[in-house]
Order: sequence, then C-alpha cells, then structure tokens
Amino acid sequence: MKYDDIIIGGGLGGLVATAFLSKAKRKVLLIEKNANCGGCIVEYKRKGFKFDSSTHWINNVKMIKRFLAELNAEEYVEFKKFDPMMNIITTNGQYLLSFDVEDFKEKLINKFEDDKDNIILFFEEAKKFGDEMELLMNSSFKYMKLMDFVKFGMNYVTNKMPVIRKYSGKKACDVIESMFKSKELKNILYSLGTVPDRSIYPILCKIAWAYSKNYYYLTKENGKDNLPEALERITLENGTQIKKNTEVVKIIVKDKKAVGVKCKDGTKYYGRNIISDIDANATYFKLIGEKNLPEKFIRKIKDKKIYPSYCRISLGVDYDFAKMGYKGETITFLPSDDLEKVFGYDLKYCRKSLYFRSLHDRSYAPENFNTLEIGFRLPYNYMNYWKTDFDRTRNEQYYDLKKIVVEEVLDSISTVFPDIREHIFFTDFITPITYERYTGNTEGSMMGWEEGKGGILRKEPIKNFYRVGHWSFPGGGIPRVIASGKIVSDMIISREK
Ligand SMILES: Cc1cc2nc3c(=O)[nH]c(=O)nc-3n(C[C@H](O)[C@H](O)[C@H](O)COP(=O)(O)OP(=O)(O)OC[C@H]3O[C@@H](n4cnc5c(N)ncnc54)[C@H](O)[C@@H]3O)c2cc1C
Repeated sequence: MKYDDIIIGGGLGGLVATAFLSKAKRKVLLIEKNANCGGCIVEYKRKGFKFDSSTHWINNVKMIKRFLAELNAEEYVEFKKFDPMMNIITTNGQYLLSFDVEDFKEKLINKFEDDKDNIILFFEEAKKFGDEMELLMNSSFKYMKLMDFVKFGMNYVTNKMPVIRKYSGKKACDVIESMFKSKELKNILYSLGTVPDRSIYPILCKIAWAYSKNYYYLTKENGKDNLPEALERITLENGTQIKKNTEVVKIIVKDKKAVGVKCKDGTKYYGRNIISDIDANATYFKLIGEKNLPEKFIRKIKDKKIYPSYCRISLGVDYDFAKMGYKGETITFLPSDDLEKVFGYDLKYCRKSLYFRSLHDRSYAPENFNTLEIGFRLPYNYMNYWKTDFDRTRNEQYYDLKKIVVEEVLDSISTVFPDIREHIFFTDFITPITYERYTGNTEGSMMGWEEGKGGILRKEPIKNFYRVGHWSFPGGGIPRVIASGKIVSDMIISREK
C-alpha cells in the first residue's frame, strides 16, 4: 500500500499535518494507537461528567484561527476569552490576575512596598517580552525558511529583542531572587510559571498574555468541536483515512531513507514521507532503531532533559461555584509560604491548581453539578514509580497509593473548600504513569523535551522523515504543536512542487 505521506500518531501535531496534507489532495494515512485521536488532549466521560485530560487554556489563538480558516474549519470550534485568568491564594491573601493587569500590579505594589520599583520594572519588561515574542510567532528554528531565519537573526542582532535577550537562558530563581525581597511576592511570581529552577519565560509569558488578552478556552456549549474533533472532521471530509487502534512498531529504513512503517499486526504501509508525532525516544530508539542513527546523534538525544509530567484529580461535585462567586478562573493554591515546600512533593504543602471547566462550558456537568479538577506535580518516579511493577504494570499497591494521594490532596484543599468530601459524586485520578501509558510520552511528559538550548533539533538523521508535535517544537504547548504540523506540511508540499 503506497501513500504520499504517512503520519504516526494522532496528537494535535499529527492531526494538523494530516489535515493540511490531505487538503492538498495528497494520499495520506494517519495511524493512531488509541481508539481516539487527540493524545494529550482527550476528553472523557464518566457518570454524566466530562473531563479534559490536559488543556485548560490556549494562547496565540489568532494564529490557530488563521490555520483553521485555511482548512475551512474555523466555524467548527469556538474560543472564548479566559478572563479572569487566575486567583493566587497564599497563606496571607488572594491575588487575582485578570486582563486588567494594572489592578494585579497595584495590589502587589500596595502589599509589597519595598519591592515597588522592581515590580514596576518586571511588569514593564514582561509586557515588552510579549511584543518581542510576536516577532517569533509562527516560526521554528528547526523548520524556519532561510529568509525568516535571516530576519530573526537581524532582529536579534540589531537589538529588536532586548528583553528576550536579557532573559534568555535565565532561570526563574536567578531573576526573582535577585530582584525581589518579599518571600510571599516571590512565591506569587513563581506560581505564574512552572518551577523556580526552570526558565523565567513562562512567568513573563503569563503576564504578557494578560496584557495582550491572549488567553482563551474552548467551549463546546454551542455544539462545536474540540480541536482534535475539528481536525479529524476536516481530514475525513478530504477523504483521508485514519487508522485507529493501530500501533506502529517500526519505521522501515532503506539506504538511510524512511520508506514505510510496520504496525503491530504485521501490516506494512509504504510512503514517500514519514512523519512522526509521537514520543521522540520511541521514534528514534524503538521505531527507527539505533543501528540507523549516528552515534553522536544518539548521545545528543540521550542527554536531553525531559519536561516533567503532571497529576490530575478530576471530581464531579454538587457545589454551585457560580453562586459562590467563581467565574471560572484557575485557583492557584499555595498552602505554605516556604518555597521549598510549595515546590516540593509533600502533598500537604505543594502548589495545587484548581480548574472549574464546567463554569466555562455547561456541557461538562449535569444540571446542578460541576466539575473540579486539581492539578499538581509529583514526579514520574514518585514512591518508586508509583509502586508499579518493574515494567510499569499497575498493581494493587499502585491503586492503593492513588487513593492515599487523593485523600492527602483533598485534606490540603479543604482550606479552600472545607466540606469538599461531602460534595463529591465522582473521583478520577490521572498519574504520570497514566499519561505515559495513554499517550506514549516518555515519563508522561507534558511537553516533550525541556525548552532551551538544544531543545530543537535542526537536522533529522534519515531522509524523507519529519517530526511534528511537542518533541519537535518543545515547551510551547498547543500553539507550537499546531505550528509544527503546519510548518512540516508546508515544507513537504513546497518541496514536492
Ligand atoms: C496535563 C497536561 C496539561 C496541559 N495543559 C496545557 C495547556 O493548558 N495549554 C497548552 O497550550 N498546552 C497544554 N499541554 C500541552 C499540550 O496538550 C501538548 O503539548 C500537545 O497536546 C501535544 O501534542 P502532540 O501532537 O505532540 O502529541 P501527543 O498529544 O503526545 O499525541 C501523540 C499521539 O501519538 C499516539 N501514539 C503514540 N505512540 C504511537 C505509536 N507507536 N503508533 C501510533 N500512535 C502512537 C498517541 O496515542 C497519541 O494520540 C498540557 C499537557 C498535559 C499532559
């Protein structure tokens, strides 16, 4: 069976590439191991409630809408502004970050007067950072066209990106510790990003997105699709086949060229271009095989750092959050003022994010009910890999550990919702083990490799082979994953023209 393009993995990156390639009337095959496409972004239904496995917010919607319009799929999805964005609850107060950023800034200045000058400076720079980031939109170093690359270089060299330059390679802790005195303020600023010893960029981005009102959610209330559904629909309309419940176990390589794939049931499919949207380690070490890779390249891949996973407890509850005054803003709850504890693994004190999806979209919960999802970070190797067997098979101890973690987390958030247990009708818990098993991402990684130096590989070791998704364009979530699919499909189409 011969195809123009074969895409492995129906995550968002794979779906975008498939949609654009099939729109170009090419013979395309998408192969997905699960029963549904979407990868990290799937929604699942339980006892009348609906939950998302990952995404709660999306940014750079202008670009996403432009791509959807090119695919004639714009009306399939509906984005709404996510405002207010988040409410940070510390042991001493509450700080609401909304599109009215000045209000948030003023509150910080009033509370932390000793840090006033640097608060003003930091917010100014975050705003500029957002403007400079616009210049980078839509481009990836990996697949940048020569002219774009030159333009980027010129902008960088001629100092059109002073804030990006200033903070490039800086860790959040380097910047925050040197600029601010108050412990509580530092905690609040850290909570806008990932963890203190990672890049400062996510913190700057959060403030920049608030300034530019670049923060959205998707709603299906009016009968619309979510992103994977919309892309799948357009792909099928263009006559492209999606093979689900089919796992690719090998990329067939001949004379240093990718020529096809082999599936678990032994079926082989041949294609001119092979595109992988799946985990990079699986792609290179299982599907392509070390024998087809240069030694230097293998070392480079093995040295890369992986972006950590996440934990999510999903609850179906009968709280009336709207009546309680919640508008859907994410609560970032910092149960301790000790930084080590907030970013540590003691469940009583570690940071938790509370998401209220059904406040944004009533289709997520039955009438008089709501969903409440609690996100937090425990590592993939927590308690000896969550007490699974050596091959990560889940056993009784794993399920017992999950119950213990749920109870400890509920205890911790009872500061925010004191009678939480009396309101729960359904509980589910996704661990890093679940993410890995379901999506195939190494260690359940949320976003592929860590962003930063060496995060992006410019050259693939075999011909006619491409990668899309968050391992090809790491650290940026959905917009960058979508851009990766578009860039690769454009590149293939223009090369073959
Ligand atoms: C908990 C969590 C929260 C997140 N929150 C946000 C957020 O709020 N905003 C944001 O922008 N981003 C967020 N992200 C990141 C974003 O969801 C991901 O970066 C993005 O969805 C990844 O898409 P992808 O195309 O790289 O592939 P993936 O989603 O990783 O999908 C890969 C697909 O390949 C399939 N596959 C794997 N192996 C094989 C095989 N051998 N054969 C066939 N198929 C295979 C898998 O089943 C899967 O469907 C979050 C991620 C997580 C995990």
